[in-house]
Amino acid sequence: MEKIKNFVNGEYCDPTTGQYIDNIEPATGKVYCLIPNSGAGDVQIAVDAAEKAFPIWSGMSSTERSAILIRLSEGIEAHMDEFVQAESRDNGKPVSLAAQVDIPRAVSNFHFFATAIVHYASESHQMEGLGVNYTLRKPIGIVGCISPWNLPLYLFSWKIAPALAAGNCVIAKPSEITPYTAYLLGKVAQEAGLPPGVLNILHGEGHTVGDAIVKHPKIKAISFTGGTSTGKYIAQTAAPMFKKLSLELGGKNPNIIFADCDFDDMLSTTLRSSFANQGQICLCGSRIFIERPLYEKFKEAFVDRVSKTVVAPPMDPKAKLGAVVSKPHMEKVLSYIELAKEEGGTVLTGGERVILEEPYDEGYFLRPTVIEGLAFDCRTNQEEIFGPVVTITPFDTEEEVLMMANSTQYGLSATLWTSDLKRAHRMANEIDAGIVWVNAWLVRDLRTPFGGVKASGVGREGGWEALRFFTEAKNVFIKY
Ligand code: NAD
Repeated sequence: MEKIKNFVNGEYCDPTTGQYIDNIEPATGKVYCLIPNSGAGDVQIAVDAAEKAFPIWSGMSSTERSAILIRLSEGIEAHMDEFVQAESRDNGKPVSLAAQVDIPRAVSNFHFFATAIVHYASESHQMEGLGVNYTLRKPIGIVGCISPWNLPLYLFSWKIAPALAAGNCVIAKPSEITPYTAYLLGKVAQEAGLPPGVLNILHGEGHTVGDAIVKHPKIKAISFTGGTSTGKYIAQTAAPMFKKLSLELGGKNPNIIFADCDFDDMLSTTLRSSFANQGQICLCGSRIFIERPLYEKFKEAFVDRVSKTVVAPPMDPKAKLGAVVSKPHMEKVLSYIELAKEEGGTVLTGGERVILEEPYDEGYFLRPTVIEGLAFDCRTNQEEIFGPVVTITPFDTEEEVLMMANSTQYGLSATLWTSDLKRAHRMANEIDAGIVWVNAWLVRDLRTPFGGVKASGVGREGGWEALRFFTEAKNVFIKY
């Protein structure tokens, strides 16, 4: 069986532990390759390589670094089909989604930050008659990037690209559940001419190699995307070492629909915002609030469309939903559907596992599920499920829906559907979220700040925010 490898000091290598763990294909439930079960020893070797590479990489001009990162972006594009197939197989998502969203976005992430860095400038503050301050923004040194399984290469590259562009050396760990495209990235980095040691990719579990990255004293900053409880642990570990931290965590996002919305646009977008990537996008709107006069019309049309949604093997071009990422995750989602019933909810469509024909009969396929009749503050409506499950709830007033929308511990994103411009501004201002879409969902401009409030995280990614995170500011004053 194929064994994937770590990528350290510009070369593929085996883990020092000599151990491997299974990598399972979600669509079949079968092991299809082995991944390194790396440990603290591997982190040390990667840090040694990064330390040697740092003066070379940070000493290059931003134009030279930019050229290499553009080649990296073009390298992914040149291997597009290989990356697309690998992402879909590893994660269970439809091939069509990996081809339209995941891999093109990884290409854009590298291209975007490769070009951003050559436009990056720092401030100067003049003090009249006294002197001038100017700010230097220098790379931090060695940084750690840890990413989750839901958008594997998309989120991996969203961290690595700005870190590298700013002149840092990176120790990166993809999720052990979806390691494959990060593995392929090593080859592209070699082809692009990235100097050895600048990007090191270690595979393995969070509590071993992930923890060793967070604890290593020479890794000065951690950019993490994943679950809120993991984020809390990382914050506790890294804070006493005074590491810079960016934490992008969970969500339980509201999708608020007013009766004056464009119904057709809202309906087709709400299908996507509920179930894209099997509902496994941190920005999915899993709590749908509908103004009461529209409730019955929405419910009928939505349930009809959801019940016709095609759940199929990822490579089937008709597949709108593929498999969820793992057996434990499938079981977690199913347990929340049971909880919703215990809490008094009614399953309007879905609510069960789908058994497809061989060889997919042991795959982790779930029907998209819509539940109504739940209180806004029950566990189903407060806890992150992260699967193809949404609840629908009517509301009467703006005040009421704001209260319900803001009632969770999370605050990542929100979607608003209305034709009333003043209401859109009013509500957008009041919602506890880092990102609000009005009459849209998942429209992403890479220059904008991305991140959440409350238990959805600390810090912002995207544009200058990311370049600021991956640099240290130093102010210099010169007397006239
Ligand atoms: P997770 O927290 O289990 O794992 C994320 C990554 O952290 C993995 O690489 C994992 O191996 C690693 N990890 C786990 N324990 C660690 C530890 N103790 N020290 C260091 N690293 C550790 O999350 P997941 O299940 O992979 O991803 C799903 C979660 O990610 C959801 O909660 C989702 O909302 C969140 N997410 C957030 C965003 C965002 O931008 N806010 C985006 C995507 C996903």
